[in-house]
Amino acid sequence: MAHQAELIAVGTELLLGSIANTDAQMLSQALAGLGINVYYHTVVGDNPQRLAQVMEQAKQRADLIITTGGLGPTCDDLTKQVVAGAFGRKLVFHEESAQRIRNYFAHKNRPMSDNNLQQAMLPEGCTVLDNDWGTAPGCAWEQDGITVVMLPGPPRECRAMLEHRVLPYLRDKGEGEILSRTLCLFGIGESAIEAQLRTEMESMTNPTLAPYAKEGSAELRITAKGGSRAECEALIAPVEQALRQRFGALIYGADVKDLTEVACKLLLEQGVTLATAESCTGGMIAQRITDLAGVSAVFKGGVVCYTNEVKRDLVGVSETLLTEYGAVSEPVCRGLAEGIRRKLGADLGLGVTGVAGPGSDDRGNPVGLIYVGLSDRAHTWVRELRLGPDRAQNRNFATLNGLDMVRRYLSGLPVE
Ligand code: ATP
Ligand code: MG
Repeated sequence: MAHQAELIAVGTELLLGSIANTDAQMLSQALAGLGINVYYHTVVGDNPQRLAQVMEQAKQRADLIITTGGLGPTCDDLTKQVVAGAFGRKLVFHEESAQRIRNYFAHKNRPMSDNNLQQAMLPEGCTVLDNDWGTAPGCAWEQDGITVVMLPGPPRECRAMLEHRVLPYLRDKGEGEILSRTLCLFGIGESAIEAQLRTEMESMTNPTLAPYAKEGSAELRITAKGGSRAECEALIAPVEQALRQRFGALIYGADVKDLTEVACKLLLEQGVTLATAESCTGGMIAQRITDLAGVSAVFKGGVVCYTNEVKRDLVGVSETLLTEYGAVSEPVCRGLAEGIRRKLGADLGLGVTGVAGPGSDDRGNPVGLIYVGLSDRAHTWVRELRLGPDRAQNRNFATLNGLDMVRRYLSGLPVE
């Protein structure tokens, strides 16, 4: 396996600061997960001389060179010529790629200008990496112990090409099978995970372990290399088991999309119905649930109860509770969860009330104080969250907490 990579991003707009080099970030994260060390990130403008210099330098210090950008049809796109030239290769016309490009335009019903066929000019003897996500094909070859890969710049294409073309290419070169398993956690941050696992992570080489932050939750990716899929699985299994023992109920799934999907799947499997009463999240929980198809069997509906009147009249929270404790309080949250469950005749009720920010509320409750409650026929559980000043983050985190409570309840775990 190549183990000293250099990423070369080509594009003057990167140097001008018009866009950030997110391709390098994405590639670095992915390669780290595969145990490939990335030693250099280089950015160079659309300038043939300087790109040629950069290539000479990379040849001296890397055995995996991945370039991004400059594969397109515009005349500033000189990357291929220069990169191929650095290895003494010419560009040759690749008829199959030309046909794919023609088909791409025909399929989109768009006329194709001739310069688009420039994209079918590829280094002789390379492996063509078909681009199903755009027009410009990528390419790869090995020479003098160096693997060279060229990828298109648009981030969506670059990511898809890495996953579907580059990894299989590296695999087919006999560098073995690579398999990862991603454990998803809620209730612990990526940095806390890292702090707990630092020593293990540093000493592990196969599989490797890497935490990632993911919109309010965290991921832990275990990546193994081996001769076969089964061998990788056997390497991953004991590590996964140890992590499950360590993080227990914080793990909400492995190789799953998000908490919403996990919670809804449990509701559907168990035929349990849910209703929501949301104040500071303004319907975000309901929205995420209804993003998924097929949930009408379990999601009854929800009320966005932003004012006290709506909390009282539509959800059934008593006036006494509202005046005595105020809208942002544990008793009112309890009232929301219980009230909506009864009003909508659901098995479970979820209630959210809080100060999303950026300012405190008229009772002087601090910004970021949020209550999330879940109620069934017999019990009501309430989580009190004390978050920061960021409104969007607070609303997202409250939403995730609600979904996590549902997930824990249906998994037989402590809810609060
Ligand atoms: P195209 O066929 O679209 O011309 P290309 O391979 O020639 O693709 P560029 O022309 O260099 O790539 O870049 C196309 C767009 O992709 C840029 O405008 C930019 O938005 C994005 N892009 C390019 N390089 C990067 C990068 N390193 N990180 C993030 N985005 C990038
Ligand atoms: Mg371009």
